[in-house]
Amino acid sequence: MIKEYLDNINNKETNSLLVSLKSYALLNNVPIITDDGINFINQMINIKQVKSILEIGTAIGYSAINMALSSEAVITTIERDEKMYEKAIENIRLAKLEKRIEVIYKDALEVDESNLDKFDLIFIDAAKAQSIKFFNKYKTRLNDRGIIITDNLLFHNLVVTPIKDKSLKQLVKKIDNFNNFVVEQEDFDTYIYSIGDGMSLSIKKEVIK
Ligand code: SAH
Ligand code: MG
Repeated sequence: MIKEYLDNINNKETNSLLVSLKSYALLNNVPIITDDGINFINQMINIKQVKSILEIGTAIGYSAINMALSSEAVITTIERDEKMYEKAIENIRLAKLEKRIEVIYKDALEVDESNLDKFDLIFIDAAKAQSIKFFNKYKTRLNDRGIIITDNLLFHNLVVTPIKDKSLKQLVKKIDNFNNFVVEQEDFDTYIYSIGDGMSLSIKKEVIK
């Protein structure tokens, strides 16, 4: 009920490309970010004056295009699935954002991160079982006081639902492990929010030199 109330009262998306990407995603079961999730991120980007973003998990480019349109940030985003990659390239071209969004077609665990720049924001939104690996690998690419946001930490509330299916149970266990891991990282100040499908916000602590 609250969700419907807020959906009605909050500003509607007016960008026609974003509206059509959203319906494409719905029709084709592409798990794009929720409205409250992307608004949370976009407001963080603006509060923190984020200039550069690394995204793990592009899909059709919905979140990347959305972040680019609401800021001046440059975005690097990584996608391993060929069909998704091609769709993202097509959508980024339609949005005329080729200069600000670079898509790397590769498994994020195989990218040599030492070749990447450093970023103000890292958005982790790829294979949910791998989030700890992504976090550890890419936190080295974060600027001081940078932030890491990780999506789908409640996994459609399955983290609190009894599950019989073995592989699903394992996946949910890994998400639960990530949640416990991420709040314990001493070099970050982290809180997990029940926004969208559950998101953690981790702010890198200042290094005392
Ligand atoms: N961020 C997008 C949604 C991403 S869905 C949005 O909100 O609009 C997750 C995507 O991550 C899928 O397209 C999947 O192919 C990709 N992915 C999963 N594991 C990956 C990996 N190890 N490396 C690169 N991409 C990965
Ligand atoms: Mg997501």
